Amino acid sequence: MINKQISVLVNDIDQEKPNALANLHGYIQKTIAKSFCTNCNKITDPKTYKNQIDADEYYISGLCDECQVIFFKEDE
Ligand SMILES: [Zn+2]
Repeated sequence: MINKQISVLVNDIDQEKPNALANLHGYIQKTIAKSFCTNCNKITDPKTYKNQIDADEYYISGLCDECQVIFFKEDE
């Protein structure tokens, strides 16, 4: 399941609303700074991830390793 706030922000980008991309990036940066997951809002520590790729992805999308699986599955 995708977090409502993210779907709103992503939807704004799809609709090319002004500052939509900056809003999403700002939201992600805030959650990363607090070590939260942008999707499930759980505290997460990229240092504990099995794959370095997943840890790198956290700093891009703010998704924890569990949510990355969900998101990238829904992408297909
Ligand atoms: Zn998560």
